[in-house]
Order: sequence, then structure tokens, then C-alpha cells
Amino acid sequence: MDYAENILGTIGNTPMVKMNKLVEDLPCLVLAKYETFNPGNSVKDRMGLMMIEDAEADGRLKPGGTIIEGTSGNTGMGLALAAIIKGYKLICVLSDKQSKEKMDILRAVGAEVHVCPTDVAPDDPQSYYSTSKRLSEEIPNSWYVNQYDNPSNCKAHYMSTGPEIWEQTDGKVTHFVVGVGTGGTISGVGTYLKGKNPNIKIWGIDTYGSVFKKYHETGEFDEKEIYAYVTEGIGEDILPLNVRFEVIDGFTKVTDKDAAIYTRRLAKEEGMFLGNSAGAAIKGLLQIHEEVGFTKDDVVVILYHDHGSRYVGKFFNDEWMAQKGWLEE
Ligand code: PMP
Repeated sequence: MDYAENILGTIGNTPMVKMNKLVEDLPCLVLAKYETFNPGNSVKDRMGLMMIEDAEADGRLKPGGTIIEGTSGNTGMGLALAAIIKGYKLICVLSDKQSKEKMDILRAVGAEVHVCPTDVAPDDPQSYYSTSKRLSEEIPNSWYVNQYDNPSNCKAHYMSTGPEIWEQTDGKVTHFVVGVGTGGTISGVGTYLKGKNPNIKIWGIDTYGSVFKKYHETGEFDEKEIYAYVTEGIGEDILPLNVRFEVIDGFTKVTDKDAAIYTRRLAKEEGMFLGNSAGAAIKGLLQIHEEVGFTKDDVVVILYHDHGSRYVGKFFNDEWMAQKGWLEE
């Protein structure tokens, strides 16, 4: 018999899938690391489990404890699965721009959800950073995860996602392209791949309204770069410790409109029903080609973080797209 002890045993070992139509004008092989095959439908199951296990190991998380996190949804799902199996309570603090589907899904797996306004500074008491911190101070036997600065986030990708990509490409990967939020995925995978072959290029996808690209290029934290944007899952108005800028070769920024259009194109032209950061990532990959020119010998791996079902009320909804003026098909 072949079975997992519980749902956590199905995390990782996700498939790699060749991209076809959307990259038909590119000379290189483009392979998608397809993270929706994780049980919570996103890459975040990997780091949710690792952050909890590391906190258990060093006593930050104790039996019967409450886990608190400010999360855009996917990390909440990853934490929720591990919390259920291991017997912890989970409180997720979300910003109000996150899709309703994400909030409903978190409630479905037993998390308590708090919603905070998006358009406030990170140090505002109403922000989801401040609210998460305050709850963790008020609630006894609680542990604030802080995926932005928690090293177990990056470590999960160093220990699983990176090695899987290396093995699935027989060590032939030349470029890795991925959206950046907390930075855990790009830094963990990037550090692992550069350790195997320092010539591998690591590219981050950023969004307009986020500080990463400018900071990477100039070392300046420019507040003028910060404004509200629609793209979900990537970009930040802070510099998380998990973004290891030294392993990143370059960033490209993708507009909200392009990210939305390419999210829909992935579904309709590749049969890849994915989240909004995947649309940003594949459009970003095409922009990187314009910038650096991939060659026929390149093996470019792109990572898709989460599933399209979480976005049916927004990017996949024609009325919503028309209201934004983005309905071009
Ligand atoms: N895409 C989605 C949908 C996400 O939820 C996240 C995490 N915020 C990312 C991309 C970025 O991944 P990371 O936090 O590892 O940089």
C-alpha cells in the first residue's frame, strides 16, 4: 500500500510542466514549477509546515498554542493544514484588498480571520502588521509567525523547492524566474541553485507600487515607489529579511493590467488555471527576454505560486475586468 500518514505528507514533489503557446516566440525551454499540486493549492504549504516545525523544535510554539500570522491567504492555508494535524489554533490577519475567496477558504479550514485596511502605513495601529503583533502580545500562549523575517520560510525552499528544481532539470536549469513577496521562494531556491551552479541567473518579478526593484538597483528605500496596486501576492512596502538581494540578479516590474491579462491567458491558452502572481510572472519572463535575450540552450524555470480558484471573483470575472478597463478579449 502507498499512502501518506496525513495530508502533510503530500506537500512538495510538485510537477514541472513545459510552457508552450505563451512562450512560442522564445528560443529557450521554459518549464513551470507547478505549485498548485500542494494540498493547500499553493507553494506556501512548504513554508507553513517548516515554520511550525522549527518553532515547535525550539519552544517558540508550545502544545495547545495559538498561531498568529498576517497573511494574504496562501500562507494562512499552509499554516492551517499543519495547525489542524498538529492541534493548534490559527488566527489570520488579512488586508481588505485580498479576495473574498481567500478569506472564505481560510475560514473553511478553521482559521479565525481578522480583516484590516490596506491603505495605511505598516506602522499604523490598524495595519495588518501592527494588528498581528498586538494580538500576539494580548493572547496567552500565542506565537507570531512573521513570514517576512522568519528564516524557516526561506529554509523550506532551500531544502525542498530548490533541490526539486535542480533534480527535475537534471541540473540544466540556467534561469529561475519568480514573483517576490516575502522573498522566501526566490531566496531559498536562489541560494540553493547558486550553490549548485553560480552561473544560474535568478530573476524576481515585482509590481508597480513596490520597493524591491529600485532598492535592488540603487540600495535606496524610496517611499515614492510605494502606492496601492491591484496585483496580489507580490511586491511590498517593506524590506523583508527573507528577500536576500545578493542572490537576485535582477527584477522586472509588471503592470496590474498586464498581470491580469496574462493570468487569464495562462488559463485559456495553456490550460493553466493559476493565481494572479503567475500572470505577472509569465509576463515578467517575456519582459526579461526582451532585456537579456534568452538563447536556445537556456532552460528557464518559472514558479507558479497558487491556484486560479482563489481569483474567480476578480481576474477571471469579466465584469470586474471591464470595470477596470482591462477586458480586451
Ligand atoms: N504569489 C502568491 C500568490 C503569494 O501568495 C505569494 C506570497 N505572498 C507570492 C507570490 C510571493 O512568494 P514569496 O512570499 O515566497 O516571495
